[in-house]
Amino acid sequence: MRFHDPRRFGSLHWTESDPAAHPLLKQLAPEPLSDAFNPEYLYRATRKRSVAIKQFIMNSQQVVGVGNIYASEALFRARVSPRRAARRLTRKDTHALAQSIKDVLREAIKIGGTTLRDYVNADGVPGYFSQKLFVYERAGAACRVCKSPVKQFVQGQRSTYWCSTCQR
Ligand code: ZN
Repeated sequence: MRFHDPRRFGSLHWTESDPAAHPLLKQLAPEPLSDAFNPEYLYRATRKRSVAIKQFIMNSQQVVGVGNIYASEALFRARVSPRRAARRLTRKDTHALAQSIKDVLREAIKIGGTTLRDYVNADGVPGYFSQKLFVYERAGAACRVCKSPVKQFVQGQRSTYWCSTCQR
């Protein structure tokens, strides 16, 4: 067995008991592509949370597996500013965002993920989702929808990309 993890976010563990009961897994929130992650879940989970919505959806205690690229892209598609307080999202916003998270992940998986530098899948094939990005790593370039320049700022030590015209 070979474990190749250039970004060092992964780990391998051996267990003979139920994997879902493992301390590293049992606290995890719903998977974004599961039915448990839906607009109503996102609406209820965001109530009373003043953290910015981008940081909220990247928190694995709220929903797992939404990384920096897909969080930026899903917020763009839902037309929600990454800076907005989570509790300020309306039902319409949480509906759009839950759907856009699922759409972005499904599309990215279908075309092999996002190769920005050296990412390849287990067969050594790069992913092509980078050609579909609306905002991620496009700071200063024209928004593909409104032509305004894409903006960038640092949020929770991660770069966030967004269009201040399309996203409110
Ligand atoms: Zn725009």
